[in-house]
Amino acid sequence: MRIDLHTHTALSDGADTPTELIDAALRAGLDVVALTDHDTTAGWAEAAVAVRGSGLALVRGTEVSTRAEGISVHVLSYLHDPDDPGMAAMLASSRSARQLRARAMAELLGRDFPITWADVVAQAGDPDTVGRPHMADALVAAGVVTDRTEAFDRFLYSDGPYHVPIEVPDPRIAVGIIRAAGGVPVMAHPRAVKRGRSLSAEVIEEMVEEGLFALEADHRDHDDAARREVRSLAERWGIHVTGSSDYHGSGKLNRLGENLTAPDVFDALVAEGCLEVIR
Ligand code: AMP
Ligand code: ZN
Ligand code: FE
Ligand code: FE
Repeated sequence: MRIDLHTHTALSDGADTPTELIDAALRAGLDVVALTDHDTTAGWAEAAVAVRGSGLALVRGTEVSTRAEGISVHVLSYLHDPDDPGMAAMLASSRSARQLRARAMAELLGRDFPITWADVVAQAGDPDTVGRPHMADALVAAGVVTDRTEAFDRFLYSDGPYHVPIEVPDPRIAVGIIRAAGGVPVMAHPRAVKRGRSLSAEVIEEMVEEGLFALEADHRDHDDAARREVRSLAERWGIHVTGSSDYHGSGKLNRLGENLTAPDVFDALVAEGCLEVIR
């Protein structure tokens, strides 16, 4: 079983449409794929249509933006009720916070480079889920850098001169909101240190107390030492580990299926979620 539980489409900062994602997942030989765009469920309906009868199974999810200790923390939510009022309000608020933050960053970038808010929106398509990768794309389009990675390394990194944080909830609160919506919360790339400082074990333990299901251990942004550390944290607290690609289409190197989740962990996740897996 090839199970990849973390992917993005153009409904957030990926390159593929949901239909293209499902086609790519079939070509990659996956049995299960989770769609987890940032702070939105907008891609779910199209992905569900594309997946039916294809032999692939679809897990509907969202990568929820949160913040603690001055650090951006991503919490994957799987199989939650998208109409749950707490969940819907949290995601709507994060989408508007994204827009405010992107306007502020575009303003800072515009002082030094030929970049406007309109250029960033043009890259994002929908300003609702605008993120730093779209600012990177605008810098590429303006000829300032050659690719997204260079844009992040030189200008867009966390704590950098152009960085403005998104005003989003604390991850301990978000885990509770996800569980109340019938979702299954998993902390994404907990030790992706090249993105900046990472969250303390104390706060992660408090997320576990709120109902965290698993830590994402196998991820491109974790080296072997980070994967071992994440596994030992999960073992200490008696929670699961997952693995996934964090595929974004052509905008990033991540290949579908490059990291996978074990079938028994997938079965346990499905048993705790309130939505069906679509086949
Ligand atoms: P945002 O949520 O707008 O702050 O953007 C975070 C997103 O940017 C992450 O989900 C990744 O897709 C991407 N990202 C973060 N760091 C890097 C990096 N160093 N290189 C390329 N993409 C990155
Ligand atoms: Zn992303
Ligand atoms: Fe992430
Ligand atoms: Fe992601």
